[in-house]
Order: sequence, then structure tokens, then C-alpha cells
Amino acid sequence: MNDVFNETIDIRPVGHVESHCGNPEAMPLGGRQAVIRLRPDYEPALLRIREHSHLWILTWFHQTKRSILRVRPSKVNPDMPEYGVFSLRSAARPNPIALTLVTLYKVDGCDLYVSGLDAVDGTPVLDIKPYFEEDIVFSPLTPYIPPSDRDTQARLLRGQALTHHGEACLGLELGVRMALLAEERFGQLQSPALAISVAGDPCLADVLQGLTRARLANPPRFSFTASEGANVVTWSKNGRTLRLSVRPGVDLAQAQSASPAEIFLLDENITPGSGR
Ligand SMILES: [Zn+2]
Repeated sequence: MNDVFNETIDIRPVGHVESHCGNPEAMPLGGRQAVIRLRPDYEPALLRIREHSHLWILTWFHQTKRSILRVRPSKVNPDMPEYGVFSLRSAARPNPIALTLVTLYKVDGCDLYVSGLDAVDGTPVLDIKPYFEEDIVFSPLTPYIPPSDRDTQARLLRGQALTHHGEACLGLELGVRMALLAEERFGQLQSPALAISVAGDPCLADVLQGLTRARLANPPRFSFTASEGANVVTWSKNGRTLRLSVRPGVDLAQAQSASPAEIFLLDENITPGSGR
């Protein structure tokens, strides 16, 4: 039997990344638009690729240090503790294979136009696999590593909301703003102890369910009452409550850029001894 740890594996790139970003340090969290340029003889392997909106891209982060086994996710948040590299998706790892979920928006011959790719210009592409509906885990257990920069967190939450909800409507903008306020007070939005009750716009409810992964049951963390009137969302965790009521007449532009106090009426309560 071969000694697997001394085996050499023969991998040849199937293509490379073309991006306006050439510096890994400058790559924004969540990646950016890029073109994956495949070797022309692999074009037959792209048959029916347009049936997919999302792809897993495996690349080789050739500039990374392969001897590092523990890192702090400093690009996301320098205040976080160290993690083993197998517990993060840091570039540093023994085999610097990067795995990124991208949105495919155009195919032109052997060129795939994608967004959300975190590989810099010139990165070798090892493989492309489709993302399937079965890949989803709706409410997984993950460590809480919030970006220390609030604008970055707003951008990432908005991206998640768009992926989940599929349109940039008023409900989406309001939901993202609410989620940011709730996260500042309660921490991780996916926490099993955080419950959300929405009355109002179904779009708002859909966005908040997507961002919090709150299920209707098992355990019940989410409830929704559709109504044509006011949008009111109540967040509660460990006896603490935050109620956000959308002020009448708030439009899309205000929802995107006005201050929280201009968009919402805030009502915060701490109920002593309440275990809810
Ligand atoms: Zn909508």
C-alpha cells in the first residue's frame, strides 16, 4: 500500500482568474466580479453550465504560506481569537485550495463572468462544480466572527439578503437596516436564543427569516403576520426586547441611507426575570 502522505498528486489548472484586483490584501470580503478564463480545450466541459446560477470555484492560492496552521481572522475582525486553519477559510493552509461560491451571470465561449469571487488576477483555477439546492443548510452552527467594520457588515448582510430574497425592494432595505440594529444589541443573528416577530410586509419577513435563519418551529424563533399597515418587528433574546416600527412613508432611498432614527421608532425593554 502506498504511503498517502508522500504521494504527489498531479493537478493542472483548468483556467485562470482575470480580475481588476491583483493584491490579496485589497480583496474585499465577499469577493468581487471577475472572469474565469478556461483553457479552450475544456469548452466541452461547460455544456449546460447556463442551467446554474451559482457555482463552487476551486482555486489555488499560490502566494500563500503553507506552513501556517493557526491564524486570527484579522481581515474580518482583528479582535477574534486564533483558529486552526481547518476551522476557517483563510488562504493559509497546507494545500492552499480555495473554495468560493460565486454567482454566474454570463458565459461567453470559455469565459465565465462571475461575482463574489475572492481570487486575485492570475489565480489558477483547479475545478468548477455546480451549487445544488441540496447543498443548503438552512440553520447551521457556525462561530460568530462579525466584521469589525460596520460598513462591511452592512454590505455582506445586504448581499446575503439579496441572495435569499432575490430583489432589491423596500422590504429588503428595511430588513437589512433592522438586522444591523438587532445585531448591535443581541450579537449573532443566527443565535437559537434570538426570536423575531414580524407584522407587515411579506418581503420584510422573508428577508429577516433569510438573515436570521429563524424557523417557524423546532425551535420556534420566527413568526409573521401579513398586514397592509405598519411594519413592526419585535426582536427578543433572554428577556431583552427591541421593537422596531417603520415610520410611515419611508421610501426606498430613505431606507438605504437615512439614519436609523429617521427610519424607525425604537422601543427597547428589559424584562427582569423573563426567560423568553
Ligand atoms: Zn421584495
